[in-house]
Amino acid sequence: MAVASSIEMTDEQKAICEMVRQFTDEQILPGAEHYDAVDEFPEPIVEQMKELGLFGVTIPEEYGGMGLDLTTYVMIVEELSRGWISISGIVNTHFIGSYLLLKYGSDEQKQKYLPRMATGEIRAAFSLSEPELGSDVQAIKTSARKRDDGRWEINGQKMWVTNGLLSSLVFVLVKTDPDADPRHRGLTCFIAEKEPGASENTGEYAGLTVPPKIKKLGYKGVESTELVFDGYACPPENVLGGEEAGLNKGFAQMMDALEVGRVNVAARGVGIAQRALELALRYSQERKAFGKPIAEHQAIQFKLADMATQVEAARLMTLRAARLKDAGERSDLEAGMAKLFASEAGRFCVEESFRIHGGYGYSKEYEIERLYRDAPLLLIGEGTSEIQRMVIGRKLLQRHKI
Ligand SMILES: Cc1cc2nc3c(=O)[nH]c(=O)nc-3n(C[C@H](O)[C@H](O)[C@H](O)COP(=O)(O)OP(=O)(O)OC[C@H]3O[C@@H](n4cnc5c(N)ncnc54)[C@H](O)[C@@H]3O)c2cc1C
Repeated sequence: MAVASSIEMTDEQKAICEMVRQFTDEQILPGAEHYDAVDEFPEPIVEQMKELGLFGVTIPEEYGGMGLDLTTYVMIVEELSRGWISISGIVNTHFIGSYLLLKYGSDEQKQKYLPRMATGEIRAAFSLSEPELGSDVQAIKTSARKRDDGRWEINGQKMWVTNGLLSSLVFVLVKTDPDADPRHRGLTCFIAEKEPGASENTGEYAGLTVPPKIKKLGYKGVESTELVFDGYACPPENVLGGEEAGLNKGFAQMMDALEVGRVNVAARGVGIAQRALELALRYSQERKAFGKPIAEHQAIQFKLADMATQVEAARLMTLRAARLKDAGERSDLEAGMAKLFASEAGRFCVEESFRIHGGYGYSKEYEIERLYRDAPLLLIGEGTSEIQRMVIGRKLLQRHKI
């Protein structure tokens, strides 16, 4: 049961969204319950996503991708997230990696990685967080020092790396100048190559260990791992943008990537909120209490009204942030607002839908139980709601300085 929305779409966007919606209805939604229950990577679904070209949506055609804009990408992410946010999580860090390469990568780096990323043959992860830090990125402790052979030796521990095990590339932010003041001038983004699926990397990737995946409340199927760097040697050509251009430039590169990442998380919030609304609309017309469907009780209608309003507003804010970015305009404030509003809308709609389901919402027989465990992640990743408010407040004052 899809809920009509009034957003403007080109014919191409309509066709792509219909295709992804069909894929979601036929492949993701029927499979999510199983993969969530056993916390297993949804390999068959991912294989089909490769065939549909979903790993190369924003990668230009010259590298084998679809060459679509951020706006179309967020429409796709909404559809995928409506099915299961773990599926969009598999694409999300990969999308951020391809954005970093396209915007900051050297020609050699683009040629080397983008064609295989576009097909999904290799996938990318994105790593800032550490056991002792998440919001305070500048406090990163993992460090790299240049060895006599010219390579950079990385030592330290990363935390919460989505796609940490099965990725082939990790865009990892580490400290290269411990004395830098301000601290952000001493951070560099390395493209760390690894063996996908290997917990103990060997040969040229020796020194990188992936401990067993972290056990989580929800967001199952896609692995979240630590990464332990212990004498891992990264060639100088794997500094994002090349050593000359990229050394100590990592913080600004990653913050830029987080801005599009925020629009991406906003789209995931819209998708999960949309699904919660669909489930509530259906359940409330089926379930009877006091002699009539609960949808005929005004208190339930008010919940549905609030949910639908939040979904629509979140979607419009998300698309606006994406469209500004596509138009080459400043979108930092709008991306922060969209992320804050849409992730909170996701949590709100899921909880309201859960309440509408009564006791059955607490049962694993009903899909809303999974959504209830999945939705809180969106309040955390790409900056918590508190951090978004800090970003929004700061940007507002910058734009309206008296
Ligand atoms: C499932 C999952 C997947 C993830 N995937 C990735 C990934 O792929 N790559 C990656 O790098 N990271 C990833 N993360 C990490 C995520 O980005 C961090 O958890 C997040 O940034 C918050 O950092 P933290 O957990 O260290 O919380 P902290 O920074 O310790 O914050 C704790 C609390 O304090 C609040 N707080 C912090 N600073 C302030 C302040 N100045 N003012 C007010 N409140 C403040 C926060 O909002 C929060 O409520 C993932 C996390 C999860 C749970």
